[in-house]
Amino acid sequence: MLTETFKTTKSEEIFAAAQQLMPGGVSSPVRAFKSVGGQPIVFDHVKDAYIWDVDGNQYIDYVGTWGPAICGHSHPEVIEALRLALDKGTSFGAPCILENVLAQMVIDAVPSVEMVRFVNSGTEACMSVLRLIRAFTGREKLIKFEGCYHGHADMFLVKAGSGVATLGLPDSPGVPKTVAENTLTAPYNDLQAVRTLFEENPEQVAGVILEPVVGNAGFIVPDAGFLAGLRELTKEYGALLVFDEVMTGFRIAYGGAQEKFGITPDLTTMGKVIGGGLPVGAYGGRKDIMSMVAPAGPMYQAGTLSGNPLAMTAGIKTLELLKRPGTYEQLDRVTGKLIHGLLRIAREAGHEVYGGHISGMFGMFFTAGPIHNYEDAKKSDMQKFGKFHRGMLERGIYLAPSQFEAGFTSLAHTDADIDKTLEAAQAVLSSL
Ligand SMILES: *Cc1c(COP(=O)(O)O)cnc(C)c1O
Repeated sequence: MLTETFKTTKSEEIFAAAQQLMPGGVSSPVRAFKSVGGQPIVFDHVKDAYIWDVDGNQYIDYVGTWGPAICGHSHPEVIEALRLALDKGTSFGAPCILENVLAQMVIDAVPSVEMVRFVNSGTEACMSVLRLIRAFTGREKLIKFEGCYHGHADMFLVKAGSGVATLGLPDSPGVPKTVAENTLTAPYNDLQAVRTLFEENPEQVAGVILEPVVGNAGFIVPDAGFLAGLRELTKEYGALLVFDEVMTGFRIAYGGAQEKFGITPDLTTMGKVIGGGLPVGAYGGRKDIMSMVAPAGPMYQAGTLSGNPLAMTAGIKTLELLKRPGTYEQLDRVTGKLIHGLLRIAREAGHEVYGGHISGMFGMFFTAGPIHNYEDAKKSDMQKFGKFHRGMLERGIYLAPSQFEAGFTSLAHTDADIDKTLEAAQAVLSSL
């Protein structure tokens, strides 16, 4: 082990102080490393595919601030655009042309989106779209899938993924029973379960929301026909179909999962990549539905910092970079090399693993698989994952500190970075 050379003294001091100041020492739960053991490292700065911590250790980063850093951290063109935007002020709270520019880019890119509203996070986007589907249909119930995460609004904290899954929490206290009762859940990839829910709740289901490729229960892909089946079922039962593309939007293809799989939902939520590292979320879809949003229509939703010029600027520049030819091919190639290498090395070392990737999004479970849903994902050997995570960290590889989070690459990841990562994996996996 490299533990003698791997020093994190300053990280430990800062995190110990943080725990007195903020619940669990963090601003978002998964960052606390609870499920992998050990202490989180405290970041100092990031650039390209790399992180430097406060002790001066350098890491190759496969979290990418949970997805937004798809062009690499601190991309010079994004930073320069922000520098110029900064001279004009940090927030307007009034219309600005940058909103038109980003809105047009999103509408051009994402098949379902004819109109879009900007908000400040993925949580806000999902929370707002939920109100919208209820307003539009006049129905109150929602179907979601076990292990899918749609932010932390009350209605979604039922069998949720991400931190809820990571910490093994039951459905969160504080969510009123009457709210949770309106959230119906089905196993991912189970169309029959969805049909049964529709039949048991006639004319009460406003919509179905899902991650079209799951990233918050680990990486899980939709079975052939699953998305198309949901499209048909929602039509048949008069409900709306919502793709939560907060993670997959502009990540697995420029037009997101709906472009990749050729299935067009009624509404889409976005976040992460469209903010280029600044806080942005968005929801959009059919014009007749979006026209219900205030002030065009009666469904209220607002935001002091929404459409913020700095956030719009980072989003616009990031999408411009992604639109260049070869982007997604490059992400796919680098990520394929990484995940195929990891799976091969793990199997050669005698471990049962299962994994895959789409473009710059990937995942590996410590179980033979196949993985179709959250129940399957939970069969992964969490202790082994924790040791793998720690070993990789000590060798300068920063992986998501949870089995239930997808990994991300960026345009800044080089073949040499992947080789170095696989070398570290070789050392760690052969010692487990
Ligand atoms: C990250 C994420 C969210 C929540 O977005 P925040 O910006 O963290 O509020 C919602 N849905 C999905 C699919 C996500 O990956």
